[in-house]
Amino acid sequence: MAEPTPPPPIVDVSFMREIASGVYVIPDRRVPLDPNIGVVLGDDAALVIDTGMGPKNGAAVFEAAKRVAGGRRLILTITHFHPEHGFGAQAFKGKAHIFYNAAQRDELAAKGEAYLGMFRGFGAGVAAALEGTTLVMADETYAGSSTTLDLGGRSVELRTWGLAHTNGDQVVWLAAEKILFTGDLAEERIFPIFPWFPPDDADLDGARWASILGEMESWRPKIVVPGHGDVGGAEVLITVRTYMLDLAKRVAERRKAGEPADQIVASLGPVIRAEHPDWSSPEWIDFAIRYYASRS
Ligand SMILES: [Zn+2]
Repeated sequence: MAEPTPPPPIVDVSFMREIASGVYVIPDRRVPLDPNIGVVLGDDAALVIDTGMGPKNGAAVFEAAKRVAGGRRLILTITHFHPEHGFGAQAFKGKAHIFYNAAQRDELAAKGEAYLGMFRGFGAGVAAALEGTTLVMADETYAGSSTTLDLGGRSVELRTWGLAHTNGDQVVWLAAEKILFTGDLAEERIFPIFPWFPPDDADLDGARWASILGEMESWRPKIVVPGHGDVGGAEVLITVRTYMLDLAKRVAERRKAGEPADQIVASLGPVIRAEHPDWSSPEWIDFAIRYYASRS
């Protein structure tokens, strides 16, 4: 039986909603390769978090952000370099101040073109969304693990830790409001995305990733906006961390007993799938198993 054709990854800005005063989310509606996109308003500036994939999605997000921003100046930041999160940035170039962390800038420069090629191979809908995409570098970057943006009466923290889901993962934390935008460090009812593609891209650190989730749990966020999936609370982080630690342990036990990675994928993969019947994107289970098998 043929796989159902996935819906094209179109960001529908008409679903934009205000999740807290001056904090907006354009939800992914659980459409594959749509991210959750944020807009945070201060008195003077509006911060846009991620763009969606390709120039058309980027333009739609830019217009929607401009609408809620009124006369405020726009700042764009990206949670990480993966195409569905930041490859709409060209619509913001010259109209918004584009702000990345240094690792993300370097990773985009090093891998952006290859990811563009890889994603174009995902099917006609994705290729169409990426038509005309150009990679956009930041107007400004920050070094180190965090920086604070003053949007006018509202402070927003940008934090990064080094290699986890990617080299340049960045979360956006509204400490006063306890609202957290995680990028792909957390998904909701979606198997964690392990971009483990050796030898092309083997930049992934599951242990640091899990510890970052634990640190973010300690902040006691009230609202968690995951990279993909429904907006929730701290349980979104706990669920992902629990899944990762449990899978790491089970794979390590099997490796210790001498099972090769292929066999673990074949035997454990379906078990993991069955344990999470309401989660989507099960293709990421095998990537995660292979990643953990490579560590033990
Ligand atoms: Zn990602």
